Amino acid sequence: MKDRTLLMIPGPIEFEPAVLQALGAPTTSHVSPDFIEVFGRAIERMRQVWLAPAGQPFVLAGSGTLAMDCAGANLIEPGDRALVLSTGVFGDRFEDLLSRYGAEVDVIRAPLGETIDFESVEAALRKAPYKLMTATHVDTSTAVRVDAERFGALGTEHGVLTVLDGVCSVAGEEMRQEAWGLDVVLTASQKAVGVPPGLALLVVSRRAIEAWERRGSPVASYYADWAKWLPIMAAYEKRTPSYFGTPPVNLIAALDVSLGQILDEGMEERFARHLRFGAGCRAALGALGLGQVPTDDRHAANTLSAPRYPHGVSGATLLPVVRRAGAILAGGLHPEIKSEYFRIGHMGATKAGDLVATIGAIEAGLRACGYAFEAGDGLSAAQRLLLDVP
Ligand code: PMP
Repeated sequence: MKDRTLLMIPGPIEFEPAVLQALGAPTTSHVSPDFIEVFGRAIERMRQVWLAPAGQPFVLAGSGTLAMDCAGANLIEPGDRALVLSTGVFGDRFEDLLSRYGAEVDVIRAPLGETIDFESVEAALRKAPYKLMTATHVDTSTAVRVDAERFGALGTEHGVLTVLDGVCSVAGEEMRQEAWGLDVVLTASQKAVGVPPGLALLVVSRRAIEAWERRGSPVASYYADWAKWLPIMAAYEKRTPSYFGTPPVNLIAALDVSLGQILDEGMEERFARHLRFGAGCRAALGALGLGQVPTDDRHAANTLSAPRYPHGVSGATLLPVVRRAGAILAGGLHPEIKSEYFRIGHMGATKAGDLVATIGAIEAGLRACGYAFEAGDGLSAAQRLLLDVP
């Protein structure tokens, strides 16, 4: 039997062979003409994937948290007011992060499993002069999706900078940075962008760059300061050598390959595929009688699902069997319900067949736990939605 276990956690995910080949290719100089071309093209491709033709991409060595830090460090000055919209652990992280840079932070926290109620956001924006607000497009701890279009529109209407944590959404969930008026959309390489962990990626609007240019105090982070990286991004895009900190050459080569594949698939097709995968996975879980953390299908993420363990089943018994049956899944993350649910990633290079295999493995796990269901119920519910390959 082939020793292959699917990595179906919400990042890192399964990666395309061509991406891994680029990662494993001999490392070149970061100022060699070949690499300059690759880096310049990756920057251009980011604009297309983010749907932000006038945006300024940044590629830094680091994880998604660095991308969040980069937004906070550059856009917050001590005393600035910020509004954090939180739908889980990663939303809460922004409260802590922005406070570090001296922001006075207010938080609108959705009840667990619910999404942001934008009426209350609108009321908050009418009451106080916020400089910036943050939202987590898909909070990976709850699988709750926020209406990023409404978020952007409110920011534009009230003159408040919008920072969207798209770590679990960019290149998966529908996201149109420029059309939706989003100022910073950030992510990390290891999720739907489809590259092993190690890259913090941001695309920043002209409005946000201008807000940064108007700062009265220096950026408190040396490494994350846009002043250091703007000339580097501009140089690579102009295909000229430049240096501030050594770029992760192989990861950037892999990024260029992955972004090329994403654009070959087409953004509209990719959004539609993720919608199909999300619906297929949720249908399977529903058919098996499992509840989910998001309280409504309409705000459930399409990049991951967060099913609750059925009565009498625990992660300690279920997940190892699912793994032996072929799929690695993640346990719960939200501290309030950590032991009550698990998480399935279905984004990026995931194929319909991977998802079907994962549902099959979950059925095997449930059977081993003594949970009663009709074999194949989950599989056929998923398959009904995954059958129609465009
Ligand atoms: N935001 C979200 C929505 C995430 O899912 C994650 C990682 N799971 C992060 C931020 C932090 O990213 P990283 O772990 O790469 O630092």
